[in-house]
Amino acid sequence: MTLAGPARVSAFIGLGANLGDTARTLTLALEALAALPDTELLAVSSLYRSAPVDASGPDYLNAAARLETALPPEELLRRLQAIELAHGRERPFVNASRTLDLDLLLYADEQIRSEHLCVPHPRLHQRAFVLLPLLEIAPDLTAPGLGVLQPHLAAVSGQRVERLPGD
Ligand code: ADP
Ligand code: MG
Repeated sequence: MTLAGPARVSAFIGLGANLGDTARTLTLALEALAALPDTELLAVSSLYRSAPVDASGPDYLNAAARLETALPPEELLRRLQAIELAHGRERPFVNASRTLDLDLLLYADEQIRSEHLCVPHPRLHQRAFVLLPLLEIAPDLTAPGLGVLQPHLAAVSGQRVERLPGD
């Protein structure tokens, strides 16, 4: 007899970095996501280069990942923040440049508004550097409160973001 574990849900993570060796940091962050307990890393987008939004500083490297996880959303967020810290993340001020940013974009079809966690991520649909990698790995994706995500791309078409050639 096999014991069924806790039910797994789909979760999407947005990754970003604009300080240090950004490509290496994102690779290590993806490995850390794959190593989370009760979690499987099921899809990873291409890398994208984007201009900082509402901030100055170097260009960002961005990606999105899809997980299946049995971790509850608050615990998943805590673990994302632990991975950020392991890569030297500091928060000197809002939108400051960062070695690593891991955002919980979507968690199943849940809408969460707690002190530390808002899901869907509140700025998800306003950022081309989030939408493009997300829609690459899940073209038909919908989000609670936002509906089908693909049409939201039109509103962010002015933002500079470029998909980097894969290897
Ligand atoms: P941002 O990614 O918005 O530029 P930070 O990474 O510094 O900013 O996160 C600031 C706070 O946002 C975190 O302390 C976290 O508690 C909160 N937060 C709320 N919702 C989310 C989410 N869906 N994913 C990640 N952080 C979130
Ligand atoms: Mg963040």
